[in-house]
Amino acid sequence: MTAWARTAWEAILDVLYVPECGACRKTLFGTEKSVCLPCLSALEATDHARRPDDNPVYHTISSHVPVQGAAAGFVFNDTMREFIHAFKYDNRPDVARRLGRWWGERLGEQPLAANITCLVPMPLHVRKERERGYNQARELAGGLSKALNVPVVYPLARLRHTRQQALLSQAERLTNVAGAMRADATTAGVQGVAVIDDVVTTGATMAAAVKALYAAGTPPVYVLALATAG
Ligand SMILES: [Zn+2]
Repeated sequence: MTAWARTAWEAILDVLYVPECGACRKTLFGTEKSVCLPCLSALEATDHARRPDDNPVYHTISSHVPVQGAAAGFVFNDTMREFIHAFKYDNRPDVARRLGRWWGERLGEQPLAANITCLVPMPLHVRKERERGYNQARELAGGLSKALNVPVVYPLARLRHTRQQALLSQAERLTNVAGAMRADATTAGVQGVAVIDDVVTTGATMAAAVKALYAAGTPPVYVLALATAG
């Protein structure tokens, strides 16, 4: 195809909204939604949900704050990297929702799922959510909610804009998020709360969220991340 023809073809595709996979960009077929089946199949599930109190994410989070259990759904492989890029930077909230569903269908087979009564998405700062147009953790929780048949609730809010975590050292990350999160009493006294985020790396942001929930009277929580970079 010439450059002109390609541009014209892309313009036609834009008009027709041909759905494409959030990872490989191939056109979707049949029952595929948001992501293609080969890409979903390329995701590698972890075994964290089978041992929620003994896995790398649990150990990372519990070095900051005690939790009931923790699990990342998938390894951060190349396909996961593409998916995360799509829902963080490429305006594809549908990809996060689809992955949440896929994740939840796998999680639902584990005993851990029976302990979870509600899902709390990690909040974005208001300004960031306005820029992106959505909160990807909320979309992930929406997909999980469908698969696990438990509600999504919103007790958490960010207090102020934190500097981009990726630019900071680990020590700076801890002080950067300390006190940056607050919780209301939505989940006070509720057992089986699970906090949902896309990726856990140092665990500092997650720990700040968990501490805020505890301060508002929530009993020990679970922590669930779509992927772990560790
Ligand atoms: Zn694909």
